[in-house]
Formats: sequence, C-alpha cells, structure tokens
Amino acid sequence: MKTVIGLEIHVGLLTKSKMFCSCSTDLGNIQNSQCCPVCLGMPGVLPSLNKKVIYYGIMAGLALNCNINKRSKMVRKNYFCPELVKGYQITQYDEPLCSGGFLEIGRGDTIKKIGINRIHIEEDTGESIHAYEDETLLDYNRSGAPLIEIITEPHLNSGEETREFLETLKDILKCIGVSDVKTGEGSFCFDVNINVVDTGRNISTDITKLKNLNSFKSVTKAIEFEENRHRQLIEQNKDTCRGTRHRDDVENRTRIMGAEAVTDEYRYFPETDIMSIVLSDEEINEIKKSLTGLLPYIGGS
Ligand SMILES: [Zn+2]
Repeated sequence: MKTVIGLEIHVGLLTKSKMFCSCSTDLGNIQNSQCCPVCLGMPGVLPSLNKKVIYYGIMAGLALNCNINKRSKMVRKNYFCPELVKGYQITQYDEPLCSGGFLEIGRGDTIKKIGINRIHIEEDTGESIHAYEDETLLDYNRSGAPLIEIITEPHLNSGEETREFLETLKDILKCIGVSDVKTGEGSFCFDVNINVVDTGRNISTDITKLKNLNSFKSVTKAIEFEENRHRQLIEQNKDTCRGTRHRDDVENRTRIMGAEAVTDEYRYFPETDIMSIVLSDEEINEIKKSLTGLLPYIGGS
C-alpha cells in the first residue's frame, strides 16, 4: 500500500502594493480601508500588473530549479465566492510563469527529489469574518494582494515527508526574501491532494483534496487521518469519491466540504486587459545574479 501526496501551496508576496493597483498590502488596518475600484473589481476598471510580482515569481522559480517561461499570460478563473467580488480571479493557467522544477529533501543517501510542476502568479481574494453567530462580515483589504501558487508533482509519500518538504520550502522562500511565509497569517498555506494505491492489486482510491491547511501540525495530522481513511476504504473494497475536505482541529479529523470543481467548470479565458508577460534572457539572468550568494546552487551568468 502506498500513499501518494501532491501539494498546492499559496505564498503571499512581500510587495508594498497589491497586484493590479496601488493599494497597500499591509494587513491589520481597519477593514475595507485598503481598497479601490480596481481591487474591488468594479465594472470598467483596468488592472495594471505590478512588476515586482513577476520579479518575485521568477526568484521563487529559480530557487526551485524551474524553467522560467519567456512568455506567460494571465487568465480569468470564474467561480463564485463572497470573498471574490468580481466573480473571477486573475491567475495563470495554460501558460504559467515557471514550470518543471524540483526541491530536494532528506540528506546523504536518503535525498529525494520532489518535482515542482509549475509556479504561477495570481491575486488573493478578500476575507470572510465570522464575527457573530448568524452574521458573516466581509473585508476586502486582502483582495488583489499578490500570491504565487506552487504546485508539486505527486512525489510525496507520507505526512512526515510533506512536513520536511514544507519546512525546506519555507526556509528557501524566507532566505530569498519574497515572502514572510507566516503560516498563521495566510502568507503560507496549503491544499493537499492525497490518495492511496494498493500496489499488489493495482487499484487506487480517488483523490481527496484537503483545503486551506495553515500549520505544519494540521498538515501532518490531516494526512495521517486521510491515509487511514483511504486505507480502510480500499481494504473494504468500498467506493471512494473525489471530493474536498477540511480539517477539524478540535475533533482531529477531516470533514467533507463538497465535490471538487473540475477544471472545466472554471471556464478559464484570457485576461485581455493585461498583455502577455514577455521576458528576455538578460532580464532572467539579472534576477539569477541577485540570488547568487543567497542560494549556493544558483550561479549567475
Ligand atoms: Zn486597490
């Protein structure tokens, strides 16, 4: 029996202003005091892409041994949630900024290469505040704040390995200065895709997505719980269904949230208000040089 885990990691970037407007990214100010028509998605506004977001995205890509794509583009990902005022999120899809990297964990004879499928840049949503029993308040200060999403290949096989990967990643991102990587404050949080393969019978369970985990402890505990749940299902020959679950810290278990939206349901289409991102070798090499000395395996050229 083998557990198979892949991660989607959201990293808040340390830019001074948001991704498409000049509003501040400082958290902790009065609710809805750092918003403008652009980050509130009013009709007719024009987003203008913050160069620093591209710069930080490339730094993360180089630090994780990725190819930096000389051409990438922004798209609209359509879905409804109250925190997303526009009804779509500006992100990347078929042409991401970085692709095909890796990060090594372990040491000596036990070094293991964990593949990075891609890194893309995208905007954050606002935030729901469940202040009263029957009322939810909305704060859009975070709406439009810049993020990178790092998507790994399904190369992790246990909660402990996942924890080690995330700790190593956190150290690297902190070292290059693109993020404060604070797990409790939303600048470093994770979705975990997990299933179990019965290698003897060559069958596997459907993938479960564990959403919005924001501490190393909750990641390892949630994986442990899901691993056992999937193993029991496969041993009992019970049907499993693809779905999204969240962790209940109090009861130390995971609970179903709903069926996972499939890619087609997002109706991705190009963000025509933003031109494609086109990079030259010189621009990429300049950024590479700035990392030399911070990370020994990156050489300037
Ligand atoms: Zn704004």
